[in-house]
Amino acid sequence: MTIPFVDVAIIGGGPGGLALAQGLKKNGIDTAVFERDPVRSDYVQGFRMRIRQRGIDALQTNLPPHLYQAFLDTLGLAPIENLILDEQFSRLDDAGQATRESEDTHLEKSVSRITLRQILLSGLDGIVHTGKRFERYETLPDDTVVAHFSDGSAIRANLLVGADGAGSTVRCQLLPDLKSIDTGVRRLAGKITLDVAARHDVSPLLTEFNTNIRPRDGRGLMITSHRVDPSAYARYDFLSAEDRGHRAIPGFHFNNSTSYTWWNTAYDTDELGPDEVLERLGGAALLETLLQRIRHWDERILKLIRHSDPSTVAFLKVKSSTPGAVWQSGPVTLLGDAIHAMTYFRALGGNTALYDSGLLVRELVAARRHGKPLLASVNDYESAMREHGYEAVRSSLSAMQRNVGANRPLKAIPTL
Ligand SMILES: Cc1cc2nc3c(=O)[nH]c(=O)nc-3n(C[C@H](O)[C@H](O)[C@H](O)COP(=O)(O)OP(=O)(O)OC[C@H]3O[C@@H](n4cnc5c(N)ncnc54)[C@H](O)[C@@H]3O)c2cc1C
Repeated sequence: MTIPFVDVAIIGGGPGGLALAQGLKKNGIDTAVFERDPVRSDYVQGFRMRIRQRGIDALQTNLPPHLYQAFLDTLGLAPIENLILDEQFSRLDDAGQATRESEDTHLEKSVSRITLRQILLSGLDGIVHTGKRFERYETLPDDTVVAHFSDGSAIRANLLVGADGAGSTVRCQLLPDLKSIDTGVRRLAGKITLDVAARHDVSPLLTEFNTNIRPRDGRGLMITSHRVDPSAYARYDFLSAEDRGHRAIPGFHFNNSTSYTWWNTAYDTDELGPDEVLERLGGAALLETLLQRIRHWDERILKLIRHSDPSTVAFLKVKSSTPGAVWQSGPVTLLGDAIHAMTYFRALGGNTALYDSGLLVRELVAARRHGKPLLASVNDYESAMREHGYEAVRSSLSAMQRNVGANRPLKAIPTL
């Protein structure tokens, strides 16, 4: 059997892998993406992603102008003003405790993950191959790499890029000793459409601001909104109000053109209940568990939680990679969560994956257009990627410590 060949083979069609494929295609570099799942319906996919300047810049560089314009037109808006309330709905002064984010943050810009995926997939027919679960690679004597898939097929490439997320199979082979950390933090989140919130008279203090509920005792609750302009979707035929693959799933969780308010809270392991129990509970039971825990809070806050759509509520264990690994560059490299997965606390993971894709496109253009040796390009990409990626991991861990560990120390937060 002859194994087909591609210059750059990408494992994983998340934001990082797809943005890389767009950038390589834009620069005429032969590439193919191999993605396990035809539809992306994991829970987090139903949420918006806060987008930072580094992510926006990478998309502008990698996307053709009409797709970049679609991205700008369909961005969701979050509130720009912050508010801190205690659990009895009394306003608190910031007292200098809020995180001061000086760098490239746009608190007010957020992108639906579903919309971003539709944009990133556009024009990649014949480049993205789904139903391809990567299993292992082998390096050949001519320094090319063969990637093997679970369906028995294979691809040979000059460069294999593992963009296959936090549980990366490519990383497990390349850096087998690198372990991820369970931070011990457990997250609950949910959404309520702005229409339902209005119908139940939810206070505008909870829908018009980034509101931080900071109780005197117990864990805080963060509330913000994602407002979209549905008419922007009508201008682009490759965008649909919801992904076809999600239509059978009840609730509005996977609808990307509905405006909503959402909340999230984080607890220590076992505080809300044992992991094995919480992992089995559906959204309605999780809502009830949280409501029991905060039943002494002001009714205006409880109302927001009570009327949240159960299909949008789930329990997540917060994990992180261990920053710092260095390895010798070769024909296999890593990008995004595959090498620097991080907690969600600074909204950096997706933006850092996009940023990586911009760095790697720049280096591969240097290799393919300007004669830079491929390994030198990979090495320069990896040095830059490690520097900013590991810094993002560390900063997301310390933000988690500030946010969740502020009232009581958490058992399992790693020492930084
Ligand atoms: C609760 C939460 C909130 C977050 N909020 C934000 C935010 O506001 N802003 C932000 O920037 N980041 C945020 N993040 C982080 C962000 O989601 C990730 O950093 C981002 O998705 C990483 O993109 P990626 O392309 O590297 O990996 P992924 O998105 O994980 O994509 C990996 C892809 O690889 C595929 N794959 C996996 N294994 C295989 C295999 N063996 N073979 C083939 N394909 C495979 C998967 O199906 C998937 O499509 C958040 C994360 C969480 C958990």
